[in-house]
Amino acid sequence: MSNNKFIADCMLGKLARWLRILGFDTQYVRYLADAQLLAQARYQNRILLTKDTLLYKKAKNLGYLVRSVTVEKQINEILHHFQLHPHLSLTRCPHCNIPLEIPSQKAQIPWAPLYVLRSFSDIKVCPRCNQTFWPGTHWKNIIKKLESLDLGFDEK
Ligand SMILES: [Zn+2]
Repeated sequence: MSNNKFIADCMLGKLARWLRILGFDTQYVRYLADAQLLAQARYQNRILLTKDTLLYKKAKNLGYLVRSVTVEKQINEILHHFQLHPHLSLTRCPHCNIPLEIPSQKAQIPWAPLYVLRSFSDIKVCPRCNQTFWPGTHWKNIIKKLESLDLGFDEK
């Protein structure tokens, strides 16, 4: 696992979401001014991912200028550049960027359909937004999409 942490500028919301899905701590707050983004990056020791050349220059050693246009290519670019090894165990909430938790009792997850509660042992819950995640159709589609990108996954 890599210790890289990121903060994405306002143009990179989709990339931020995908990086979270792949397990990487990626902050994304819309409408942050450049100065706030830079302060946040420095304070939390995050790499600032940006499409803005000027902001990239201001960020100095903390900045990374994303060159790819499509989100697929951006994911590839980031993984290769930072030598990251993504994993597909679903560890981080794609919306909140915080680690998912395994509920101690199934009774604590009223949001999942009954068939999910019965059939899956690896249900995870986001402690902030309370969204429940399980290896269902949606998750399979995500994996399918990622496999099509040929990123070289570490599935352990
Ligand atoms: Zn969440």
